[in-house]
Amino acid sequence: MTPTSASGAAATSARFLIVGPQGSGKGTQGVLVAAAFGVPQVATGDIFRANVAGGTELGKRVQAIIEAGDLVPDALTSELVRDRLQQPDASAGFLLDGYPRNRGQVDDLDEFLASRGESLDAVIELEVPRDESIKRIHQRAVEQGRTDDTEEVIANRLAIYERETAPILDVYRARGLVLRIDGVGALADVTARIFEALAARGLAPRHPGAAA
Ligand code: AMP
Repeated sequence: MTPTSASGAAATSARFLIVGPQGSGKGTQGVLVAAAFGVPQVATGDIFRANVAGGTELGKRVQAIIEAGDLVPDALTSELVRDRLQQPDASAGFLLDGYPRNRGQVDDLDEFLASRGESLDAVIELEVPRDESIKRIHQRAVEQGRTDDTEEVIANRLAIYERETAPILDVYRARGLVLRIDGVGALADVTARIFEALAARGLAPRHPGAAA
């Protein structure tokens, strides 16, 4: 059994990343994992889009970059994440979705966590073949009316994923943190695979019901 503190919260930390190409379902799965562990899901893409929609200063700075499917500069993105992770609700853990996305951001996150005496507990890699990702992105673009999901932008985003983001998995693999999950199949089956892999690492959810 996981040791619990007087407040009933699990003593183990839950600091996770979820990594996968656009259309891998990482947003959906990330929400479920975060809820089960009682930690916030921090999705940089969602934060940027909310700022664009709200017309904030940050939104104005990043709008053109996001619409082209390019990466927002590391310094700006890492500052945004550091601010978010310093909020009280992230003190016991977090699930990062969409960050880090390249080697520079891995270094920024390492530095931030080390300054707090913290480290990641697991990196969930969702594996989905390219064709399947493209199919799912198109479906989502139609369902959610995402303006950053045009043909050209999708191709650009996948190319950036393959060139810049996939290699960060090697860094985390060398640290023994990566849980490779087959992301093809029914949503619930993929969720079950993730929780099984986490449990095999001794990472048990605090609120298992929240994942149902
Ligand atoms: P996403 O929803 O994660 O695909 O993110 C949407 C867009 O936000 C991306 O295409 C980028 O323009 C930007 N973005 C999100 N996360 C990052 C990040 N970690 N670094 C740089 N840009 C990002």
